[in-house]
Amino acid sequence: MVTIEEALGIIEDQKIDLKTEVRPLEASLGYALSKNIISPFDVPEFDNSAMDGYALSGLYQEYRLVGEVAAGDSTIISLNDGEAVRIFTGAKVPENTMAVMMQEKTSVKDKTLFLDEMPKVGQNIRKKGGQLVEGQVVFEKGHILNPPSLALMGSLGRSELEVFSKPRVNIITTGNELVKPGQPKLEGQIYESNSYAISGALQQFGFEHHQKTQIQDDFEATKAGIQTALESCDVLIISGGISVGDYDFVKQSLEENGVNELFYKVFQKPGKPLYFGRKDNKFVFALPGNPASSLTCFYVYVLPLLHKLSGYRRTGLPTYQFPIKHGYENRFGRPSFLKAAILDGKVEVLDGQGSSMIQSMAKGNVLAFVDDGEKLTAGDLIRCKLIS
Ligand code: AMP
Ligand code: MG
Repeated sequence: MVTIEEALGIIEDQKIDLKTEVRPLEASLGYALSKNIISPFDVPEFDNSAMDGYALSGLYQEYRLVGEVAAGDSTIISLNDGEAVRIFTGAKVPENTMAVMMQEKTSVKDKTLFLDEMPKVGQNIRKKGGQLVEGQVVFEKGHILNPPSLALMGSLGRSELEVFSKPRVNIITTGNELVKPGQPKLEGQIYESNSYAISGALQQFGFEHHQKTQIQDDFEATKAGIQTALESCDVLIISGGISVGDYDFVKQSLEENGVNELFYKVFQKPGKPLYFGRKDNKFVFALPGNPASSLTCFYVYVLPLLHKLSGYRRTGLPTYQFPIKHGYENRFGRPSFLKAAILDGKVEVLDGQGSSMIQSMAKGNVLAFVDDGEKLTAGDLIRCKLIS
């Protein structure tokens, strides 16, 4: 049995050869860059107008209006002192422009432009190089591409990016009692649901599963299923069959497949019978079958590994502290992850903390953490991971 910190440390300490690939810009969201990005030119590349209005040469309140320049116009215009042109947002400002006056503060009569106020030097001009200068490191290797990063890469003309590959994930569910939703079931059987939480959580964080297999509680079937699943993935997530029951064959099957145990059993609630192992460059998590345990373990342990395998520097869900709405004492005898909801900045621990209780987890939006024996009074800060 290991502590939560030890288990997370073992995951974090894994030495991994990261794979890289070239991806189209539009399919790079959530990937980490495998190389620094250097700006090939200044951004913006030319001084341009921040407003619809008038580009002014010299600082006056009256100008001769000599033309117009719209966004995308390539003609080079040069203004003489006392001249102005009509200009639109994003258009390149003519040479000798000193300021742009927004159109709301102007009037035009014949070919003369009148300003309501004196312009100020540089006003409403977005300067060349104002965001980035040529040769500058825009992003360092490891930067995770969020939507504005994709925009920035696009604005540098990049249609493809070199990124760290994401791991291929396979899922195995175990249990004689499990029936696929939509199929008829017999007395004593239940519908298989963990794989939907796992594949959903994978999707939630930009991962996907490659293969999903349901295996009966049978040693040979489990061993064969694990062998097949391991062939086509980097991370194998198994649900159930890892506890101490007579029908729990996963641990032995992993051993027989040459998977080395890195830890088994974590001093926590829920999710004590959690297994983590490795075979060469492939990793296996065997999650407890109880639905809330299995998903909790995904968020706390599987996600950091997936992030690490994706080249992320910071892995897993960050922990935030919020005030708790009510008193709470952890009497479970183990450090605990609690199904909780945060609303209006306050955390409420929900009814239904059992390992099987997925309904409370479904209605909540955070996993709150309390140490063994920790006692909180209303308003105390409680550690939380936001899960939806
Ligand atoms: P196990 O860890 O296999 O002993 O399973 C513990 C509990 O979780 C049992 O009540 C199982 O029926 C339930 N369970 C295991 N796997 C699943 C699953 N994939 N979907 C829903 N419930 C499951
Ligand atoms: Mg089982």
